[in-house]
Amino acid sequence: QTSCTAKEQEMEERIARHPCFSEEAHHYFARMHVAVAPACNIQCNYCNRKFDCVNESRPGVVSEVLKPEEAVQKVLVVAGEILQMSVVGIAGPGDPLANPQKTFATFKGVAENAPDLKLCLSTNGLRLPEFVEQIAALEIDHVTITINAVNPAIGSRIYSWIFHQGKKYSGRKAAEILISQQLKGLEYLTKKGILVKVNSVLIPGVNDRHLEEVAAAVRQRGAFMHNIMPLIVAPDTEFSRNGVRNPTSEEIEVIRQKSSASLKVMKHCRQCRADAVGLLGEDRSAEFTKDKVMKMP
Ligand code: SF4
Ligand code: SF4
Repeated sequence: QTSCTAKEQEMEERIARHPCFSEEAHHYFARMHVAVAPACNIQCNYCNRKFDCVNESRPGVVSEVLKPEEAVQKVLVVAGEILQMSVVGIAGPGDPLANPQKTFATFKGVAENAPDLKLCLSTNGLRLPEFVEQIAALEIDHVTITINAVNPAIGSRIYSWIFHQGKKYSGRKAAEILISQQLKGLEYLTKKGILVKVNSVLIPGVNDRHLEEVAAAVRQRGAFMHNIMPLIVAPDTEFSRNGVRNPTSEEIEVIRQKSSASLKVMKHCRQCRADAVGLLGEDRSAEFTKDKVMKMP
């Protein structure tokens, strides 16, 4: 009983310092994303690769990709300027785990040079199971996985293909592999005590009636929060060509309400860019471009 309470308390404290995981914290603590991961290993039908990954971003934004050492330098400069900085995340512009060397070299550099900053990772989850040990070893204690479906028939309408262990898969098989990897990764992470938030993109007519099931499935595997993000159809994508529309605010509210029967629902996500800097709701990325940061002492 005592250890359970201590564990819960520790978890509460970790949540309380993360601006995305705690609504209260987002007024006081800042986060930054460093864009070090350009490649992706899947194709979502709402994604146009000219923009940042929708896992954590809205389309229409293109981040400047940094090398790991540039990203670490940027973190140190920003942390010196923005004292509320508590979290450094990698969320793109592609999938961080499709670029493992760059992603982990950056995390390692930040952990060595700024050990007080918490590390956070957002991923589509395809390669998650193979990196759980590395994530735990680096003490990355917040992970976000984007899971848009747990049923492969629905998943096959959302993903065109995946590239997995040297092979390209499409259709139902692609969705089956991706979903199984995502759920396995989620389970492994939560068993290690790592906090996992699940993002789901709400796609009207495709997964809107299915997200309750997603919420229940991820709760069962230990996710602590569900972030239902409205689809923002990017131009020149499978969905834009097929007339898939963005959801209305009423639709989002209804689905969030239903999902909240299973687990805590995030309502303050701003769908930040992959190089976002500052408190949620403010974007100071323009103050910290590569050119400017490299000139700073
Ligand atoms: Fe695009 Fe992100 Fe999906 Fe990859 S995971 S296809 S970058 S939205
Ligand atoms: Fe937080 Fe959402 Fe922004 Fe990610 S995209 S940093 S979850 S507010």
